[in-house]
Formats: sequence, C-alpha cells, structure tokens
Amino acid sequence: MNTNQLVIALTKGRILEEVLPLFEQANIVPSEDISKSRKLIFDTNLSNVKIMVIRGSDVPTYVEFGSADIGVVGKDLIMEHGSEGFYEPLDLKIAECRIMTAEPVKAPVRSGRLKVATKFTNIAKQYFAEQGQQIELIKLNGALELAPAMGLADSIVDIVDTGKTLKANGLEAKEVIAHISSRVIVNKASMKIKNSIIRDMLRKLNKAVDDKIQD
Ligand code: AMP
Repeated sequence: MNTNQLVIALTKGRILEEVLPLFEQANIVPSEDISKSRKLIFDTNLSNVKIMVIRGSDVPTYVEFGSADIGVVGKDLIMEHGSEGFYEPLDLKIAECRIMTAEPVKAPVRSGRLKVATKFTNIAKQYFAEQGQQIELIKLNGALELAPAMGLADSIVDIVDTGKTLKANGLEAKEVIAHISSRVIVNKASMKIKNSIIRDMLRKLNKAVDDKIQD
C-alpha cells in the first residue's frame, strides 16, 4: 500500500453539492466539474488524492474493503450497512434529515403483525424488535410512499426532511428512529498506515464544518 496515496469515495446526488465546498476549504478540489462529467473517478489539485463518486449505499462497502481510504455517506446508510468495518471520526453536519416511521393520516390503531415497507430493512428490523413489535417486512427500492395507499403495507420507514413528500401522499410522520447527517468514514488499516495524511485532512474538514456553523 502506497502510504501517500488517498482515495476518497463521495456519495453522488444531493450530498455531493454540500460536501464539495467543505473539501474545497480543506484544500481538496476535483480537477474537473464532477456534475458535468460521466466519469466515476477524478484527479484533484493534489497529485496523491483521487475522488470517486458512487451510490451512497456502496460507499461503506468500498471503505470497509479498503478500495477507498475515506468515504462520505449518510448515517442512514451506515446504520443499514453496519458500522463495524470502519471508523466514523467526523460528522459533517450536512444533508440533515430523520429516518422515521410514517402511516396514512388518521390510520386506525392496529393490533397484531404490522406490515412495514422500506428500503432500510436492517434499520426497521432492529427498531421494531426494540419496540417489541412483530412486523412483516416488505423490501422496496423506491416510492415507498405509495405502499400504504396501494394496500401493500400499513406503515413505512423512510427518510423525512420537510415532510412534504409524506403529506403529498396522504401520510404522516410518526416516530423518529434516528437523526441523520453525512459522516466521514475511514478504513481501519488506512487510518493506521496513512495516519498523518488522514489526520491532517480530518482536522481541516473539522475546521471547515466549524467555520460553516459559525457563519
Ligand atoms: P421531504 O419531502 O423534504 O421530507 O423529503 C423526503 C424525501 O427526500 C425522502 O423520500 C428522501 O428520498 C429524500 N431526502 C431528503 N433528505 C435527504 C437526505 N439528507 N438524504 C437522502 N435523501 C433525502
């Protein structure tokens, strides 16, 4: 392993727009406009640092196996993946939202086994087990808000920001399962072998987060 080379895996989509200014303040800038390119890996202003841009759900996997040294990913996807395979040293305090249960407005109280649709099956399983609630889990990959209206599920577990998406689909948020924001995760071996370069980057990112909050 070249102890000077760093690969950073960023989550594409809405997190990226908020994350790039923080990296820029930490003096890491992609060499071309990521949003205008179909490339998946980019050089940066630093000859030893590369940035990959991939799906959030793949970031923990790349970092756990060391193909990326560092990742930026939502806490929801870390919880869903399991966090034993890497360190999570920094909360970037961006892309904040909640993972919640939601039901049709004025849904009757149900007894017995609840049908829950979600893409976050591990999070839902753990949450309802802690509540002592028996559930039937239905895995969906998107448009969860449709499931109750179409009779597929009684309840959903999903990301809520403003709550507008739920409201537009006749649903209301119920219980907060977790508060979510984007986190920096670090491969365990990289943290040892590339310690000084990673610590330096974390220190600069931490300062960028603090500066942004004080603005
Ligand atoms: P809202 O209507 O503002 O409550 O936004 C809810 C929808 O936006 C969810 O279904 C999510 O797919 C998406 N969303 C909002 N915030 C985030 C975030 N921080 N990370 C990922 N998805 C999000």
